[in-house]
Amino acid sequence: MSLTVGVLAIQGDVHENLLSTKKAIKDLGIEGHVVNVKTADEVRKLDGLIIPGGESTTIGQLSLVNSSLRVIKEKIEDGMPILGICAGMILLAKTVDDHVLGKTGQPVLDLVGIKIERNSFGRQNDSFEAEISMDSINIPNFNGVFIRAPSVSEVSSDVEVLSKFNEKIIAIKKGNIIGTAFHPELTTDISLHKYFVNLVHESKN
Ligand code: GLN
Repeated sequence: MSLTVGVLAIQGDVHENLLSTKKAIKDLGIEGHVVNVKTADEVRKLDGLIIPGGESTTIGQLSLVNSSLRVIKEKIEDGMPILGICAGMILLAKTVDDHVLGKTGQPVLDLVGIKIERNSFGRQNDSFEAEISMDSINIPNFNGVFIRAPSVSEVSSDVEVLSKFNEKIIAIKKGNIIGTAFHPELTTDISLHKYFVNLVHESKN
C-alpha cells in the first residue's frame, strides 16, 4: 500500500524536508510519495506528517486559524506518526517558555508531556553545528544543525529522551511522535528521515 507523507507547508524549511523525505522513500525502496499540505482536508489524507522548523508562533497561529492544527492533533491521537523539527517540536509540547521572555502563551498541539525552552542556545547569531547521537534508534553519529534552537527542559515519564547536547535534551520520542531541536533536513545525512518513513510504513501495515 502506497504511503502519503506530508510536510506542513505554512512557513519554514518546507522544501528541504520534501527533498529529504523523497530521497528516504526512494532509498528504502518503499512505495510512497511526499506532498506539501496546508489545509485540514489535506492533512486528513496523510499517513505521516513532518512539521518543519521555522517560526513556531507563525506556524501555530496560521494552522489554528485554518483548522489544520485541530486535525493534526486528532490524527496524531489516532496514531499517525509525526516528526516535529525545531519549531515543529515546540508545537508538540504541553508548555512553552522563552529563554528570555518566559511564558509565551502561543498555540500548541499539547500532545507530549514536555516543557520547551525556546531559543535555549541563544538567538540567530548563536546558531551552530555539533556532532550528536541518537543511539536508541541506531543513529550513533549525526550532524546536528541548531538554528535558534529550543531545548526540552522537562519530560514526563512516558517520553523517551533520544539525545542530549551540553546536558540539554535535544530530541525526544513518545510512541510515533518524534521531536528534534536540530534540523536533519539541512544535512546530507537522511538517516532520521529514513527512520521516520519506516515508522510511517510500519504504522500503516
Ligand atoms: N526559535 C524558533 C521558534 O521558537 C524555532 C527555530 C527553528 O525552527 N529553527 O519558533
